[in-house]
Order: sequence, then structure tokens, then C-alpha cells
Amino acid sequence: MKSFDIIDPSAGCAFAQAPAFDRDAVDASFTRALAAFRSWSRDEEARRSAMLAAAGSVEAETEELAALLTTEQGKPLAEAEGEVRAVVAWMRYFAGLEVEDEVIREDESAVVRRLRRPMGVVAAIASWNYPLLIAAMKLAPALRAGDTVVLKPSPYTPLATARTAELMARGLPPGVFEVVTGGDEVGAWMTAHPIPRKVSFTGSIGAGKLVAAAVAPDLKRVTLELGGNDAAIMLEDAEPAVLAPQVFAAAFRNCGQICSAIKRVYVAEPIYEEVVEAFAERARELRLGPGLDRETEMGPINNPPQLTRVKELVEDALAGGGTALAGGTVLDRPGYFFAPTIVADVAEGTRLVDEEQFGPALPVMPFKRVEEAVERANSTRFGLCGSVWSADPDRAALVAQELDCGTAWVNTHLGVGPDQPFGGHRWSGIGLENGLPGVESFSDSQTLVVAR
Ligand code: NAD
Repeated sequence: MKSFDIIDPSAGCAFAQAPAFDRDAVDASFTRALAAFRSWSRDEEARRSAMLAAAGSVEAETEELAALLTTEQGKPLAEAEGEVRAVVAWMRYFAGLEVEDEVIREDESAVVRRLRRPMGVVAAIASWNYPLLIAAMKLAPALRAGDTVVLKPSPYTPLATARTAELMARGLPPGVFEVVTGGDEVGAWMTAHPIPRKVSFTGSIGAGKLVAAAVAPDLKRVTLELGGNDAAIMLEDAEPAVLAPQVFAAAFRNCGQICSAIKRVYVAEPIYEEVVEAFAERARELRLGPGLDRETEMGPINNPPQLTRVKELVEDALAGGGTALAGGTVLDRPGYFFAPTIVADVAEGTRLVDEEQFGPALPVMPFKRVEEAVERANSTRFGLCGSVWSADPDRAALVAQELDCGTAWVNTHLGVGPDQPFGGHRWSGIGLENGLPGVESFSDSQTLVVAR
């Protein structure tokens, strides 16, 4: 099999290689997953204990996996360790989740029940920002539902995922979890392949639309977890000294490369100056460096196209009258580092506000009335998440419910959990991951009617 280079984004040079799967190798993975499905789908208890064993194998190698993840992805080591722990938590949560049949009606004429049946083989496709967490959000509920999984990580970050599959193979039967590596074309072969009955995709809106079109001829089921342009609204009673650092952290974590990172901030006029200054100060003092260095608070952007995109959006904002209160440029050092950037004097109509930057550059805008802030937050095709920040959580919760998005937070942003349904409105996606809805998305529903 051919192979391709994997780059360490903190150095900008290759440190390893991954196999480039060809069509035959992808086909062989699906064939093994289909063969494994027959027995895997039949024994619920065996599934649950195999999932626990797989979780234990991963947990035992947390340090090794985290170091590999940091080297290929760029994130600080502590965050990579958290991501490995999340894989373990997701596997354990779904292994333990009770998925009961529902009795819909029971009377003298019939017993009507709703069952959830395994679907078959799942084709899972992931992005490069949280390779392991995204894999786990697909793998754990799919395995619990009784499906088997062929997963393709991003070509930028395939190594930690492939290693996770090797470790999990100590607990899972052969063929239950297969990893295929390669470029975007491998994803396209997967969505067109006749074996998978379901495609679970996490990535950009553009690729998500291609996936939706690719699965249509075969009517495969599809879940799409796509881009976001999350707004945070800071009401006039939000305490800048306390809340601004939290908003900042939710915008710049993982170098801003999170689907649900804060990507626009609307701040009530009376506190605007204080908030932007707090953001800018934090941006200036953030310690950038290689993720393997324990002192590092923010790593590099993961790959050159993404670095170019962030640079272009910031340059466009500044050329259109925006002001960089911190950062604004690529750092003059090896690797793909961009200075944490705070941009004022911009509004809707500027690409940095309207599009998903997916990087360390944050536009901050003042507003007069809360209704205006909500309208501006909602004036987009995105609809992933949003948050409202205030000294009065009850009032903020009422405002948060007006946001047209799949998750709305009050005085926090970014937290997800295996029990917390997650998915986007509008162009941010179709379907839900996590919790019981996550298992349902990997199951076929059967209504069983037994006449009396
Ligand atoms: P991307 O769309 O370029 O790639 C994602 C994956 O899809 C990769 O594995 C890629 O090889 C594959 N792919 C590309 N074209 C394909 C095609 N035509 N058919 C099948 N597979 C194809 O996205 P990316 O740059 O890796 O990730 C960044 C994007 O992902 C951002 O927009 C981000 O918001 C989004 N994202 C969303 C969520 C969520 O849960 N909503 C989570 C993480 C990232």
C-alpha cells in the first residue's frame, strides 16, 4: 500500500507516514465489518463487556495516545490527555446505557411495541480538530446499537485514531471497528460503497453537502455534524472581570478550531470597552508553542490551508476598516502559528463575522438592545450553538432560548457530554449525536404489533 506524510504542525515538517488505502483495501474493511456485524448485532451483553474492555485498553495507554495526538494535531498535551479520557468516558457511558424497548400500547386488541434494531455497517468520517473525540461520538453509540464501524480520520490526523483502533482490538472482536486512512477520495468511496447503511459525517458544510448528495441514490441514513459560527451575547450586567476570561477561553481553546467555539461576540454597549480590552490583554499574554511543551497554552493551527484561511479572513477584516486590538498576523517562526487576534470595528457583511474562521481570530461587536443582539446572532445559515452571559441566569436563559441553534448555554460555552444530545440547526447539520438520540441515530425503528 502507498503511504502519505503526516506533518507536525508545530514544526511544519513530516514526522511519520500513514497508509493510503486504495479502493480494494476500503472494500476489504467494509467486507470484514459486514462479516463481524452478524454476531456483534445479536448479543447485547457481549457488546457491552467488549466495549468496556476496549475502553480499558485505551485508558491504559493514555499518555502514549495523547502524545501522538498532540504531535499530529498541535493541541497542548493536557488537552490531548483530556480527549483520550473522553474516548474512555464515551465508551463506558454507552456500554452502560440502558436502551429499552418501548411499550406504546397494550390493550385487549394488541400489544404495540417499538424496538430499535441494529442497522448494519456504519461509515464514519471525521475532521482533524478532535480526531479521537469525534470518532468516539460515532463509535460508542454505534457499537452500543449493534452496528459495526468503518471510520476514516482526516488525512491530517490519522495516527492517534489508527492506534486507538489497535488498542481497542484487544477488547473488540475482529472487524467490529476498522480504520481506513487516506485523502478525501477515500471518504467519497465510503459514501458510495454498497455495504454501509449509515453515514455519520463530521466536517465542513461544503463536504457535508457532497456527502448528502452521495448517499441519496442508495438512501443511506445520514447524520451530518457540520460547521458553526457560534455567537456569544454578553448582557450589560455581565461582569467583565469574571466572564470575559471565560468567553475568551471558549473562543481560543484548541486554537479556535472547534465547531462549537465562540466565533462572534456581541457585547452590550456599557461594558463593551472593558470586555474588548480584557480579551486583548489575554490574547497578548497567551503562551504559544508546541503542544508537547507543558508551558504551552495554545498550539499551532493544524494545517497550511487552515492557516491561509484565517490569515485571509483577518486581512479582509482589517482592509475593510476593522481594528486588530491584539495579533493580526502569522508568527515568524517554524510551524503554523497565528497570533491570537481580537478584531473590533467590524459588523455583519465582513467575512470574519459572516463565515466560520475556525481559528484564533475573534470579532467583537457592541449592541444596544438585546433583541437586536439576538437578531444579529440568528442572521446566519449556521445554527450549531450559542451562549448568553449575565449576572442573572434566569433572564439569560430566556434570551438563550431565542437563539436558533442546537445547543444554547448560559454563562458557559463548549461543554458537551456523552449524555447531552448534540447537533446543528440549518446548515450546521442534520441529526443528533450523544445520549439516547445518538443510539437511535444508529438504529432502525421497528414497530412490532402483536394482535390478541
Ligand atoms: P472537511 O469537510 O474538509 O473534512 C472532514 C472529513 O471529510 C475528512 O476526513 C475528509 O477527508 C472527508 N471528506 C472531504 N471531502 C469528502 C467527500 N466529498 N466525501 C466524503 N468525505 C469527505 O472538514 P475539516 O476541515 O476536516 O474540519 C473542519 C470542519 O468540521 C469545520 O467546519 C468544523 O466546524 C466542522 N466540525 C463540525 C463538528 C460538529 O460536531 N458539528 C465537529 C468538528 C468539526
